[in-house]
Amino acid sequence: MSYLQTNRVQLAGIIVLAGLLLTLAVFQYNWLGQLAERERESMGRTLGWATHVTRREFDGELADLYRGFQVYYGEEESFPEQIAARYSERIATIEGPDILDRIYWVQLDEESGLVLQEFTGVSLATLDEWPDEIAQLKSQFAGQLRNNEVQFQLPVGPAPLQDDIPALVIQQLFTRPPRTLGEYRSISWIIATLHRDVIVEQLIPALSAEYIYGEGNFDYNVGVTKADDPTSLVYSSDPALTAASFANPDAERTMFALRIWHLDQRVRTNRRIWGVVEESVEPKWQLVVKHQAGSLEAAVTTARNRSLALSLGVFVLLGGAIAMIVVSTRRAQQLAAQQMEFVAGISHELRTPLAVIRAAGENLADEVVHDPEKTRQYGELINKEGRRLSNMVERVLLFAKMRSGTLQFEQVPVDLLETIDDAIASNGAWIDERSVTVVKEIPGALPEIIGDPAALSSVLQNLISNAVKYSRRGGTVTVQARTVNADQDLQIAIHDQGDGIPGNEIPHLFEPFFRGKRARAAQIQGSGLGLSVVKRVVEAHGGHIEVVSTLGAGSTFLVQLPVGGSEREDAR
Ligand code: ADP
Repeated sequence: MSYLQTNRVQLAGIIVLAGLLLTLAVFQYNWLGQLAERERESMGRTLGWATHVTRREFDGELADLYRGFQVYYGEEESFPEQIAARYSERIATIEGPDILDRIYWVQLDEESGLVLQEFTGVSLATLDEWPDEIAQLKSQFAGQLRNNEVQFQLPVGPAPLQDDIPALVIQQLFTRPPRTLGEYRSISWIIATLHRDVIVEQLIPALSAEYIYGEGNFDYNVGVTKADDPTSLVYSSDPALTAASFANPDAERTMFALRIWHLDQRVRTNRRIWGVVEESVEPKWQLVVKHQAGSLEAAVTTARNRSLALSLGVFVLLGGAIAMIVVSTRRAQQLAAQQMEFVAGISHELRTPLAVIRAAGENLADEVVHDPEKTRQYGELINKEGRRLSNMVERVLLFAKMRSGTLQFEQVPVDLLETIDDAIASNGAWIDERSVTVVKEIPGALPEIIGDPAALSSVLQNLISNAVKYSRRGGTVTVQARTVNADQDLQIAIHDQGDGIPGNEIPHLFEPFFRGKRARAAQIQGSGLGLSVVKRVVEAHGGHIEVVSTLGAGSTFLVQLPVGGSEREDAR
């Protein structure tokens, strides 16, 4: 498969993968949305059920009490006996703290008006004064008494649910219709007062723990407000909350009500019982439940967003991984292509000097040349081309050693003037070929620097050969050297009058195997290794290299080396 075909297959693969990733992301998004919707519904249902049961149990407690103290006119037992019997029945069956506080018995009496007695647990004791807690009810009984003075009508009494006290007012029932005015007036009531703190601190928390939190709804706040005044908070699971915190609850149920199905069997089934409490006794309180996140909707949305963020993270990670694989594959391909080019470049570079040497050698061997001057020229030619070959082999070996990390640099004094001269001489073949003039602008004496002679020589050879190779035919290459930084550093500048280097190539110049577009197009011999070797040698000597280039005007490579050399011993 050709390189182009491989690229197309890869591109198609990437597009398919990206498409697949996108499709999965869309599915995931929709699926999470549906899941959140279902979750919201299910949470709503669970909460609805939990509040329903909580309310049923709470109202059941009230109904138990109400039913337990419903006394009947016309029974064999007297009222006090009935009350005592019901009381001991309750004491025997009740589990845990009782919400019942005190029991009072209110009778209408023809002579003295209202008679109030309190049940002491054994018998009834008459009270002269109405205790404060139920004093507010007195006028309501008294009002009834006046209204019914002459009418054959059952006095009604105060409402059965008194949540302010709190208390239940339980009307006595008749098993047959009252007939005489006396019977009508014999009506009595039981007032059962309730422990508010037991209701608020024990009953409601216990019920919410069992039915609301017990359903796994741990993130909810439970509150109870007054039904006719939602700003009045009776109970809150979190004392820091106010009634306003429970506005727009996730679930609400009326409570503190009497419901007919909770009442006495006789009351429910026998329509001929008189004085039955109405079924629709208005609920006094409202049970409100709200998610701590603000609302159930908000909680589900937050959870959904969290899942979405997580999925997005996974997709980004996947996408990133794919992108990285693609990038590294492309890099590997590029490297492979560069290495192929390198092999081709080296072979090409070897070919010319080898051909020249072979031709000269053949001519000498065939004794075609007899003139000593010509023989000398042939010798010089073989020498120059041989040096070109040696330079190239040295450069490749240096590169290979650097790559494998086995290169050790010497630390000996190096005469830079001599090294520059050698470098110019070793590039003789190139200089002749391009008809370039090399000018040295160097002060009479330069300090010796500490370093590796062979490696430093390779630096100068490379830079000078590049300057000559990429010069215009007949141009001038200038080699300057001077000390800088108070003689601490030595600066060498190699300037040519070539075409310069495009800005986009400059960052890649020192990468191994990199060859400029123009160098490749003009088929200028080279391997793309020179500058990478130069940079590593210069840096291993504690120096640095820079390039300044103007398109159409030429380039200058600036090398700065510390005179004292580097402490570093190897190129790594
Ligand atoms: P090469 O063997 O190709 O010369 P180098 O590593 O020495 O490899 O140089 C890398 C590339 O940098 C060259 O292919 C060329 O494009 C560019 N280059 C280096 N020196 C010069 C210069 N003096 N003028 C213009 N381009 C240069």
